[in-house]
Amino acid sequence: MNMGVDNKFPGKDLNQDDIENKIPLVAKKSPDHKTKFSCAGIEFGGDLIPVLAGPNLAETEEMILECAHAMKKAGAHFLRAGCFKPLTFPYRSPKFYETREDGLKWLKAAGAAAGIPVVSEVMHIEKIDVVAQYTDMLQIGTRNMQNYPLLTEVGKTGMPVMLKRGYGASLRDWLMAAEYIAVEHDALGHKPQILLCERGVITNHTHRATSRFLLDLQVVPAAQEVTHLPVMTDPSHATFWQPWVKSMMLASIGAGADGLMLEVHPNPPEAAVDPLQCSSFEQFEDMMAAMRPVAAAIGRSIDG
Ligand code: PEP
Ligand code: MN
Repeated sequence: MNMGVDNKFPGKDLNQDDIENKIPLVAKKSPDHKTKFSCAGIEFGGDLIPVLAGPNLAETEEMILECAHAMKKAGAHFLRAGCFKPLTFPYRSPKFYETREDGLKWLKAAGAAAGIPVVSEVMHIEKIDVVAQYTDMLQIGTRNMQNYPLLTEVGKTGMPVMLKRGYGASLRDWLMAAEYIAVEHDALGHKPQILLCERGVITNHTHRATSRFLLDLQVVPAAQEVTHLPVMTDPSHATFWQPWVKSMMLASIGAGADGLMLEVHPNPPEAAVDPLQCSSFEQFEDMMAAMRPVAAAIGRSIDG
């Protein structure tokens, strides 16, 4: 598809040569080309705007079970929780910890008990099998978006993948990373099952000392202009400030996002990781209620 960009040389943004030759599997072939895929019975890329919600970390068996029931009751489509965490420093303690394989087992059991599918981050090639065994969708975090060997091996599982945008990555970098996964899905004989997730980018001004990122809403239509893959946003990690999450979530729907990731915790001040950004169950229910009319206004829905 001609994007009207004729420069011949590689740059920070996509050019026509990139679209034709470097991302042939994720590039749109016509203006209304949009991929739909179903994961655990939830359709991505259609009128539904799936909501993937849950705590940063599957902290304990009881906590993740409580979250699973609360997310299901509020109408979320997926339960999200990290078990292998990309904590920004190496020291683990009773305050900063991961729950790894134990967390994955609790997560799967909680999802099964509440009747909600689950997604969790995979960080290591050698842990792909175990994360795949306990989840319905694999998440690649912002820090690993350009870990190409990891993308290739994750692609080989054939499972749906949520690819978070690197916080310093251009649209070009992001789509070319997605192509690594798409190559493997193609080799397995199926369409790419990749969900692109904008989660905030590094910028000079974030308007709060504790916020490191800015939600790049403009990347939603920009990505949808060139790729047929669904594009979602994660306003929780992007704003890093709970009072801003609801408005950025509604704005994401207005911008055409094909899904939302939201961090929710039973007791936000006590969250093991990222307490400033996560919403309580009550706040989450209020956010779901606020989303319905906004989605309906643009012919979409969060129910289904
Ligand atoms: C997460 O989803 O918990 C996470 C660590 O996200 P990101 O990779 O966007 O920081
Ligand atoms: Mn998190």
